Amino acid sequence: MSTSPEPGASPNDAERGAAPAGATLLALSKPELAARVVELGGKPFHARIVRENVLAKGELDYARMTSLPAALRERLAAELPILSGTELARSHALDKTTKLVIEFPRDGKREVSVETVHMPSLWVGGDGDAIQGATLCVSTQAGCPIGCPFCASGQLGLARNLAAHEIVEQYVRGRALGPLARSVVMGMGEPLLNYENLSAALDVVHDEMGLGSRKITVSTVGFPDRLNKLAPKKPRFQLAISLHTPVQEERDVLVPAMKGVPIEDIVSAGDFWFAATGREITYEVILLGGDNDTPLHAERLVALLRGRRCSVNLIPFNPVAESPFRRPSPERVEDFRAALEHGGLVATVRWSRGVESDAACGQLRLRVAGRT
Ligand code: SF4
Repeated sequence: MSTSPEPGASPNDAERGAAPAGATLLALSKPELAARVVELGGKPFHARIVRENVLAKGELDYARMTSLPAALRERLAAELPILSGTELARSHALDKTTKLVIEFPRDGKREVSVETVHMPSLWVGGDGDAIQGATLCVSTQAGCPIGCPFCASGQLGLARNLAAHEIVEQYVRGRALGPLARSVVMGMGEPLLNYENLSAALDVVHDEMGLGSRKITVSTVGFPDRLNKLAPKKPRFQLAISLHTPVQEERDVLVPAMKGVPIEDIVSAGDFWFAATGREITYEVILLGGDNDTPLHAERLVALLRGRRCSVNLIPFNPVAESPFRRPSPERVEDFRAALEHGGLVATVRWSRGVESDAACGQLRLRVAGRT
C-alpha cells in the first residue's frame, strides 16, 4: 500500500479529518471525505462507497450512486462537487481517440489548462470491432518549462504544476469515457519536475483505480541526478526517456532545458535505473523529417544503445502550425526502424493516434487558447 500523502491532504488535516473550505471531492483525503459525508448526514462508510464509484467506476453523477441513501445523494450533489476542472473542449477522431482540454483554477493571471487523451484499443471480433480498454495520456504541468521547439506544449512556457488531485481528475475523466487498460504520463509537462504530486496521484491510480505498475509509463527528458535518486526507491511505473537524438549538439537544441547535460550521463542513469528496479527503459525518439531521421543518426543510436537492456520507440512527428519541422515519410521511418533492428536494438514505430483531430501534443489546447 501507499505511503505517500493523499492528494489534497496535509498531515494535520488528515489527522483531524477537517476538510479545507470549498474543497472538491477529489481534493479531500479519505478522513476529510468521511468527515464531510457525516456533516452531510451520511455514515463514514458511505465515503468509501462514493470514492469507489468515482475512482473505480468513473461515475460522476451522485444520482446514479444508488447504494447511497437518496437524501445523502441529494446533499452531496448540492454541496460537494466531484471535480475542480472544467472541460473547455473535446475532439473525437475516427479511430475513437478523444482529446479533452481541461481548465483548472487560474494561477494569478495565467490560464491553467491541460490536455488529456483517451485512446481505446480495438480488436476485431466475430461481430466487428470491440473496445478492449483504453490508454490514457495525462499531463503533469500546465504548459511546460522544457521548451522543445517541435512541441506545441512548450510554446507557452509553464503556467504551474498540477496538484495531485488535478492529475487524478484526468484519470477520473478518462475512466468516465470507458475502462482504462494502460496510462502514459506523456502529456503536457515534465513529470520529474512535479514528482511529489505525480507520485501521490499515481498511488491513488494504483490502489483505487486498479492500474498496476507495469501499466503506467512515465516519460521524462531524463534528469540524471533525479533518476539516480529515485531508482533505489523502485517507483511504481515503467520509465521512458525522451532522447530524440544521439548527437549532443542536436539534443541541446531539441531539448533546450537539458542543454549541456551529456547524453552519456542520461544513458548511464538509465542503466542504473534498470539495475535498481529490474525494469527495462524505453528510449523515445521523435522522428523529424530530414533532421534526425538519417541513416547516420540510426547508426549512432545503435552505437549508443547496443548491448543495453532497453527498447526504442520511434514517434513520427505530427506537424504543428508554423512549425519548421516536418513529418518523415513512412518509408523513411521504416528504414530507420529496420536500421536499428539490424543493429540489434528492439525498435517500434508509434504513429500518433487521432491524427485528424489536433493529434500533436498541446495542439488542441493551443487552438482553444487562440479562440478564447
Ligand atoms: S515535448 Fe515534452 S518536455 Fe518537451 S516541451 Fe513538450 S511537453 Fe515539455
